[in-house]
This record gives sequence, C-alpha cells and structure tokens, in this order.
Amino acid sequence: MLNLVLFGAPGSGKGTQSEKIIEQYGLHHISTGEVLRKHIKEGSELGKIADSYISKGHLIPDDLMIDILRQELKDKTEQGTGVLFDGFPRTIPQADALDKMLKEMGHELTGVVGLEVPEEELVARMLKRGAETGRADDNIDTILNRLKVYHNQTEPLKDHYKGKGKYIHIDGLGSIDTIFSSISSAIDERIKK
Ligand code: AMP
Repeated sequence: MLNLVLFGAPGSGKGTQSEKIIEQYGLHHISTGEVLRKHIKEGSELGKIADSYISKGHLIPDDLMIDILRQELKDKTEQGTGVLFDGFPRTIPQADALDKMLKEMGHELTGVVGLEVPEEELVARMLKRGAETGRADDNIDTILNRLKVYHNQTEPLKDHYKGKGKYIHIDGLGSIDTIFSSISSAIDERIKK
C-alpha cells in the first residue's frame, strides 16, 4: 500500500500537487491544515484553539496534532487505500508518531516527497495566494513567522528521512505540470523498488 508524505515549506505547492497525486494514485488525502481550517470555519472548540496558533504562524502542539491525525487516519484507512499526508509531520515527534501509527496498522511509509523552492519564491506565492483567496495566515508578518518555524522545527525532518532512505528531492520551481511529472516519475521509481 502506497503511503506518502508530501513535504515542503509553506508555499511550496503541497496543496496544488496533492490534488494531482491523489488522483493519479487513488490515495486518500489528509491535509492537516485543511482539517484545522474546517474546524475554524465551523467555530468548534478545537477550531478556536487552532486559530490561536495558526493566526500567529505557530504550530499546533504535537499532542493535540497527533490526536487529530490519529482520528483522521482511522476514518480513512478503514477503507483500505493508501494515504497522502500533506502538512504532517512537521516535527520529529510527529514523524515518530506517524511511524508508530502506520506500524500498528501493518503499514509503513513508502516515501517522503520533498518540494524544494527558494525562499523569495515561497513568500511571493503566499502573498499572491493571500490576495486571491483571503487566506488569513497569508499576510507578511505571519508568513515570515511560518518560515522561521519551518526552518527551526520542520526542516530537520529532511535529514531525519534522508537517514532512513525515504527522502525524495523534487525541484519545486516550474510549471505545475512539470513539477507533477517529476513527482510521478519519482514515485513510480520508488514503487518499482
Ligand atoms: P498548512 O495549510 O499545511 O500550511 O497549515 C496551516 C497552519 O496549520 C500551519 O501554519 C500550522 O499553524 C497549522 N498546522 C498544519 N499542520 C500542522 C502540523 N502537522 N503540526 C502543527 N501545526 C500544523
């Protein structure tokens, strides 16, 4: 069963590429950012807590995030299809929790697709998205905080997964179709192994 993590800084194109990957490989999509934004929109208790972190560009605490992921995973994997994790894990404890959860279900992570995009381009893309969609955390102050948090807490996962032989580097600059073509070739290579 194909279980993939789509990894990258905020603004690296995870959401856009996710749509194409899940369609091509018939995967379930778990985007933790989308799950949290849905709770915020519904005004749930969890949504209020999530908003207090997201609006500052901080991460939701690991314990809470891992509980949310566990619930999402339970709902999806009962149907017996692989999963594309988008925006999770973002810390080493989250990565360890994901390994454990997959193992308990008799599965494992196939690979981590890492979209690599230069910093100026990330900022430009997020500002454009903020202007076009009104996404609340796509304002310059929060963007700069999210990038700082990414470098401090999330980027170390790259070496973590490289050490496990799971990391797949993808050049995240170029047209949506060109990037997707690099991703799908890399996934096909990985499946053959
Ligand atoms: P995203 O849509 O993936 O860019 O996520 C938007 C925001 O949701 C992030 O800036 C975090 O505040 C929060 N978030 C999403 N996924 C996670 C996660 N795995 N761990 C902690 N916070 C998260």
